[in-house]
Amino acid sequence: MSSADLFTKTKPHKFWRAVPEVDWASWKWQLQNRIDSVAKLRSVLESDPPPNESIESIIQEIEKTESKFNFSITPYYFSLIDFSSPVCPIRRQALPSSEENIELSYELRDFPKEDQMMPVPGLTHRYPDRAMLYTTHHCAMYCRFCTRKRKVSNPSTALQQQQIQNAIDHIAKTPHLREIVLSGGDVFSFGDDGLDKLLKRTRAIEHVEIVRLGTRNLVTLPFRATVELMGIFENYLPLYIHTHFNHPKECSLEAFEACRRLRDAGCVVNNHTVILKGINDDESTLKELNRRLLQMGAQPYYMYHCDLTFGSSHFRTMIADDIELVHKLHGDTKWDTDANVPHYMVDTPGGGKIELV
Ligand code: SF4
Repeated sequence: MSSADLFTKTKPHKFWRAVPEVDWASWKWQLQNRIDSVAKLRSVLESDPPPNESIESIIQEIEKTESKFNFSITPYYFSLIDFSSPVCPIRRQALPSSEENIELSYELRDFPKEDQMMPVPGLTHRYPDRAMLYTTHHCAMYCRFCTRKRKVSNPSTALQQQQIQNAIDHIAKTPHLREIVLSGGDVFSFGDDGLDKLLKRTRAIEHVEIVRLGTRNLVTLPFRATVELMGIFENYLPLYIHTHFNHPKECSLEAFEACRRLRDAGCVVNNHTVILKGINDDESTLKELNRRLLQMGAQPYYMYHCDLTFGSSHFRTMIADDIELVHKLHGDTKWDTDANVPHYMVDTPGGGKIELV
């Protein structure tokens, strides 16, 4: 049995069943056909109405929240939703809910204070030797728990080309910066030429030893990992890809293939999971997720406590409960190696990430 046999190909939602395979598997087609309006969502739902809910009740829930943080879902990720369950973990990550309107007094717009630690626009420098460049505010899907929802999904706030160049010039003038994270939004949102230029300019800086790319495309748009893109990445190795699977249902054959192509191209794939209430905050889901990640060749690297981002309390667990979960992941005798257990991290306002053990 090959590793691929452990994974299931995603069946397109009925609305897209007649779409030719070549289009369905095209990342550009997927982006062009995203569900990003109530009207589009209504058409898709009407093609295969949910069994236990009215379409109107789903739409009303979204209309209450869409002005706060845009929504956009690829047909691929939408097809993973099980509409027979209102608490489907894929649906909760993708579809807005009126709970996003609840803002607690201690929640913040910019919880990690990323925007306050910018020597130049778009570059956060909060660790001595490492900086993060926000290359775009675009993502294939807008995850409802996003820490950066204050700016992500709003292209008018994204860096202009000249500002990206200014940030890269700043990195070049700062010799102690030896590690750069190209993030966003989602850096895989760039076209091939854009990514090529970005990597070329970053790699050209002699003191930059490590380049990481932050993307959730492997989860929400795995077709983005094309042969052509891998050909570009091969020119800039080593590259570390930080991705973000949160639930075993996201570990499809398409996601497996995306991880495999990245590994074959010589990239290292690490996964960051956010512990989300009612989505993955239980022992069996996290064990299954970590097992699936290893089968895909993606290292379970970090598990995060959900940040104190405004309007995210319905996703947030208690730190004490998270720690108990981590204990269980470590303590199971059937769980053969600690390589399967990611580090548990809590981000702090302005203080950076702290590992709790
Ligand atoms: S892909 Fe990342 S940056 Fe984009 S919405 Fe999701 S969590 Fe936020």
